[in-house]
Amino acid sequence: MTPWFDPSRVFIGGHWQAPATGETLPAIDPSTGQEIARIARGTAADIDAAVRAAQGALAGEWGALPAYARGRMLARLGQLVLDHTEALTAMEAADVGKPLTQARADVIALARYCEFYAGAADKLMGETIPFQNGFTVYTLREPHGVTGHIVPWNYPMQIIGRSVGAALAAGNACVLKPAEEACLTALAFADLARQAGLPAGALNVVPGLGLEAGAALTAHPGIGHISFTGSVATGRKVQAAAAENVVPVTLELGGKSPQLVFADADLDAALPYLVTAGIQNAGQTCSASSRILVQRSLYGALCERMAAAYRGLTVGPASADLRMGPLISARQKDIVERYLAMADPAHILARGQLAADLPPGGHYIAPTLIAGPSPDHPLAQEEIFGPVQIILPFEDEDDAIRIANGTPYGLVASVWSRDGGRQMRLAKRLRAGQVFLNNYGAAGGVELPFGGTGLSGHGREKGFEALYAMTTLKTVAALHG
Ligand code: NDP
Repeated sequence: MTPWFDPSRVFIGGHWQAPATGETLPAIDPSTGQEIARIARGTAADIDAAVRAAQGALAGEWGALPAYARGRMLARLGQLVLDHTEALTAMEAADVGKPLTQARADVIALARYCEFYAGAADKLMGETIPFQNGFTVYTLREPHGVTGHIVPWNYPMQIIGRSVGAALAAGNACVLKPAEEACLTALAFADLARQAGLPAGALNVVPGLGLEAGAALTAHPGIGHISFTGSVATGRKVQAAAAENVVPVTLELGGKSPQLVFADADLDAALPYLVTAGIQNAGQTCSASSRILVQRSLYGALCERMAAAYRGLTVGPASADLRMGPLISARQKDIVERYLAMADPAHILARGQLAADLPPGGHYIAPTLIAGPSPDHPLAQEEIFGPVQIILPFEDEDDAIRIANGTPYGLVASVWSRDGGRQMRLAKRLRAGQVFLNNYGAAGGVELPFGGTGLSGHGREKGFEALYAMTTLKTVAALHG
């Protein structure tokens, strides 16, 4: 896997250049622990140059384009992403350890975001407002200006698609800071944007450390909106930096998302979703379903079926394309192992297998299914961000809601039941930004507004809601008699 561009450079103002310090950082393959590339170590000086380039784009060619032309460019970009599916798949698999099938799904999702926002660019409308006689009043949706995008390592392409795609469609110019552990596909996207003819400065990508490039981006007074996906701790810092400049921020901070399984559920249909939602991307998913809540009468049977499914899971290198690859880093593996150490061994219902002959430097961990121990235990309360699911019993609807809503998070939830009335009741009572009825995740749903409440963050991404978030509303009141 050799990138077709030079990842030791930053992408600013439509061309590749060395970072101001001239320094680089290693890109490590989580499957092997081996260095696969050197990436630019961007710092505040590069961020400043990127913001200026974005301002220049807004004052120049990019800012002058009509909405349909922005859409056309995004459509070209989406097609270029598809044309590079296999190269991007291999790059992401090597850079973040995703099994090839999951990496390929992310490429397709990135292309879908480009397509969706390409089509939406010229459908972002204001409204007319009935007012006093003699007035005509209407609203205009205008871009914020320069938008900042801080992206984590778990789904780089999907998160770039949903935030940068919407921002560009709405007419903003973007500065993107990918996670230091996952820069390659962000840089590839920049090069594809160049190939698609995006005017210079409309998209700038500056890799680097969170504390250097990330903090400089969130503090920059030229930024009009910040999109952040990542941890609660960093999200708080991002929001504080945004407060200094009094700019809006969209925060997506993960969760402890439950699936509620009632005794009348179709278990055969539910089972694949229950397990996959916990172990996909090795559990490093903001919307991972890390809690399975089961009605008491079904608890024993479901524990057995899920345990059997876990015993059939094998973890291996991304290139082996198994259901699960390695974790992103030794640091993330440590976090997960510390949580696993909290579990009473008697409560561990099942673990998956590690493939034979794993590369010694890889960050592998077997997926683990744990019974209980209680809804308020840290294992059932805190985001682990690894392949660990907790299974807990509940008595009835009220008890299920008490447990489901009993964490500080509120991102995603699902209900498995054949009772339509129950589905509707619980969809209203669940504290979550997305509720799924007899499914989970709806395959990522580019079109479906996504975001959380409580510690899961605020603001919405995906669908049209993201376009609204990427604009500011102006009201025009004309007095004409
Ligand atoms: P962070 O929240 O620290 O990182 C997310 C992004 O923020 C990265 O691009 C990071 O850059 C950047 N960043 C870090 N510090 C700052 C800062 N002060 N100002 C601006 N940007 C900054 O998460 P981690 O990668 O450290 O992961 C820790 C935990 O966060 C995980 O265990 C998991 O629980 C959670 N997480 C949740 C995600 C989600 O999807 N909701 C995604 C990733 C993590 P860099 O990586 O270069 O430091």
